[in-house]
Amino acid sequence: MKKILQDLSFSELENLILSLGEKKYRAKQLYDGLMRGKKISGINVPADLREKLAAEYEDEPVKIIKTLTASDGTEKYLFSLADGNIVEGVLMKYEYGYSQCVSTQVGCRMGCKFCASTLGGLVRNLTAGEIIAQILTVNALHAVNRGGSAAARAVNKVVLMGSGEPLDNYCNVIKFLRNVTAAGGINISARNISLSTCGIVPKIYALADEGIDVNLSISLHQTTDEGRARTMPVAKKYSIAEILKACDYYFEKTGRRYIFEYTLIDGENCDGRHADMLVSLLKGRCCHVNLIRLNEVKERKLSAATEKKAYEFCARLEKGGLSATVRRRVGADIGGACGQLRAGYLKGENI
Ligand code: SAH
Repeated sequence: MKKILQDLSFSELENLILSLGEKKYRAKQLYDGLMRGKKISGINVPADLREKLAAEYEDEPVKIIKTLTASDGTEKYLFSLADGNIVEGVLMKYEYGYSQCVSTQVGCRMGCKFCASTLGGLVRNLTAGEIIAQILTVNALHAVNRGGSAAARAVNKVVLMGSGEPLDNYCNVIKFLRNVTAAGGINISARNISLSTCGIVPKIYALADEGIDVNLSISLHQTTDEGRARTMPVAKKYSIAEILKACDYYFEKTGRRYIFEYTLIDGENCDGRHADMLVSLLKGRCCHVNLIRLNEVKERKLSAATEKKAYEFCARLEKGGLSATVRRRVGADIGGACGQLRAGYLKGENI
């Protein structure tokens, strides 16, 4: 595989351009083109520069090979990478704008029992450029051109909740966060970015110290370590108590309220006693609980809680003093959480 130009920050691109013996202003032209989701071959710079770059860098590192559109407007994409690997993403359309869910790894090695991304294990990490290019490609697809600004922006919120564990691909994810929030680029504010993790404790501390201040979501899904270990192998390594301590540190450093994701699995974690335990675990914390009804993965034998049960669970948390919501289901008719689309595609299903 060739190198990926979208991995570079603006100043790195400037250095590259100077090292190629080109005029510095070419870096700005190239950067503006890249931030508009253009291929190298489609950027308006002299042909010999395009050729020099194309010899070493991927012309189009991320391509949309399939788009599914739900009746509520939600779009799901299959992206192909330069080496033929496939990842997926989702674009959710809200009143306040478009929110894109991006993948950070091909597959995942965390092994959560309810999740399709982990079915084939981890194939490889995505580079920072492959993560940002998912957004650039979707922006280009929607081609919303905001006046004279450098980047055509449709997407104004980003969630790192596609396939992969972002904190298991730490360096590339941090680089992505720096590039996507950089002034002069697509410049998405850190407060509009959410990173979701299954709870890799040392990396939560490291993230708190980066000074990027994105919103932190923790996939909790259970109220005890033993219960959590049944569906999430990572729980054998890091306890809930350690996760909560790391969240305290994150809050202290960033001032950001954090979110707990809690996927409701029938017979597993959504009885009244689980709600009460969650209240005693989280009460008094500056946090929010996001309840998700399981998207059933057919390779796994777990069932979703009913909608009624989800709202009862939510009401019990609220009564106990927690801030909680049941996540609205978007794109239900195109199916699938985390990795399901890719898993179907790889098995040759007609999607
Ligand atoms: N690895 C990260 C981010 C990716 S998953 C993490 O674990 O947080 C994003 C969220 O979707 C996580 O909370 C994850 O637990 C949840 N999820 C995965 N598969 C799901 C499914 N089949 N139904 C409902 N939620 C699911």
